[in-house]
Amino acid sequence: TEVQTTRVDGNFNWTLVRVYSDAGVAGTGEAYWGSGVTDLVEEAASRIVGENPCDIDRLYTEMVRGLSAQGSIGGAAVTAISGIEMALHDLAGKLLGVPAYQLLGGKYRDEVRVYVDCHAGAHSTEDTAGAYSPEAYADAAAAVAAEGYDALKFDLDTREESDEYSRHLSPDDIAYMESLVAATTERVEADVAFDCHWNYSGDSARRLAAAVEEYDVWWLEDPIPPENHDVQREVTRGTTTTICAGENLYRDHGVRQLIEEQGVDIIQPDMPRVGGMGETVRIAEMADTYYLPMALHNVSTPLGTVAGAHVAAASPNFLAIEYHSRELDWWADVVEEDVMTEGRLDVPDEPGLGVTLDREVVAANLLDGETLFDPAPEA
Ligand code: MG
Repeated sequence: TEVQTTRVDGNFNWTLVRVYSDAGVAGTGEAYWGSGVTDLVEEAASRIVGENPCDIDRLYTEMVRGLSAQGSIGGAAVTAISGIEMALHDLAGKLLGVPAYQLLGGKYRDEVRVYVDCHAGAHSTEDTAGAYSPEAYADAAAAVAAEGYDALKFDLDTREESDEYSRHLSPDDIAYMESLVAATTERVEADVAFDCHWNYSGDSARRLAAAVEEYDVWWLEDPIPPENHDVQREVTRGTTTTICAGENLYRDHGVRQLIEEQGVDIIQPDMPRVGGMGETVRIAEMADTYYLPMALHNVSTPLGTVAGAHVAAASPNFLAIEYHSRELDWWADVVEEDVMTEGRLDVPDEPGLGVTLDREVVAANLLDGETLFDPAPEA
């Protein structure tokens, strides 16, 4: 009957989406953050009001078709559609009395592995002079591992001396990055991934990947820009270091070439951005036909993160989902349930997503000018 949004001032501008029905039930989802997403949610919603919310895949297709003028091949229009699609899984699950993973074909696993986005440097110390030293990285890794996490990720593109526009890494740049990888992987038992945020040329990426081959790198993420999949394929095939990419891509079509040409070793879509829960399982299954694992990029609230856990449960080749709010002490309070323990997410068995927003916490942290959406009727 209606779709409303509420934006929360978290460590990102979290965008919550609620779909109301005339059956006395509402479903709640989350779209990846970004300007214009709430307007695009409103536009997408206009395409599905009056429809049966249980026809999730058809409504997804209707929204993609309906928003062609707003760019539904990729970008914020797909992000907005993703938030509605997630809310439809919550709503349909509640209407049918089944958990969302059941709508996705059922589960392969009961708990979902989490990896933690970590920072040495300015995020974790006042001492910016030594903040990006190998010792600072190793200390930060040890501190996070001591909290019970066994999978971590660090930024590797922190050196300001690099000429960012040439995308070129000097031998000295690579030696410095290798020293960060060496110190971190040697200090902790955990799996450790390293993110390069699309910064380097193919040649630089190949030399960097070669330089870290001798360490226990879980994966090297986005060493080159995200657009040219021919270069991505050559980088991946040129090294034994595991290469991961995908968070900047949209819809199944956006990842098809990378998967078919084995241009990555791990595909990593962002579920509330790439097209939503059903689209992400379709991507997982496409990747699985090439025996490629899938990780999930994730910067969501606990609600969007648990939606990711349903997708993870329903995807055979799932590896781990990101947790990007370790330094925000009220992240877990956004929902009433305890969703994460010891670096693992439970997969709820309650209908829909199985989590309930804490309205007081959401209301206390709204972005300026935002209003809290209407309560969900009791199911
Ligand atoms: Mg990344």
